[in-house]
Amino acid sequence: MELIFATGNKHKLAEAEFILGLSLPQLKLLPHEGPEPVENGVTFLENAAIKARAAFEATGQPSFADDSGICVEVMGGSPGIFSAIWAGGRDDAVNRQLLLDQLTDISSEHRTASFVCTIALVEASGETFFTGVWSGSVAMRVSGDGGFGYDPVFIPEGFEVTAAELEPEVKSSLSHRAMAMNQMASFLSKR
Ligand code: IMP
Repeated sequence: MELIFATGNKHKLAEAEFILGLSLPQLKLLPHEGPEPVENGVTFLENAAIKARAAFEATGQPSFADDSGICVEVMGGSPGIFSAIWAGGRDDAVNRQLLLDQLTDISSEHRTASFVCTIALVEASGETFFTGVWSGSVAMRVSGDGGFGYDPVFIPEGFEVTAAELEPEVKSSLSHRAMAMNQMASFLSKR
């Protein structure tokens, strides 16, 4: 079985290969980085669908995309779909520093947050969506050099270290992306 993964993010690709490789070893992931479609949806689901549809239209092959981000409770769910461009550009370090600055006066018990990942799978037969949510909180400071994006400032529930301090295999067994990808793997394996 072959699936196009519409992403130009090498971290997402590595995580997807690891997660899907465990449950669907026969699956061949083909990364596709076409012209970036305008992500003008207002939800993770809409933006995932925009990216997956663009890949499906370009390749004619079953395609999926993930749209993901961090949602901070005290900020009303922001950065949410704007996580990648929170500080205006696409610089992870600048984005997470802005988030920390915005939360400077917020104590640790009020820094609840979650990572959300929605996958859109687009096939000739239709579209299917899968969502994973990883609960935790925003750390007081940056810590760890693994992962990407907001990993160095996200402390998963049940841990006292950030996602960037977890072994990659541990992150990929617990994360929002793992939850959504495992749902997709289970859906595909029932065929
Ligand atoms: P997307 O490419 O539009 O889905 O942007 C996702 C953005 O959310 C990334 O640029 C990261 O800033 C953040 N993000 C999503 N998933 C993760 C993760 O697993 N760890 C850290 N940050 C993430």
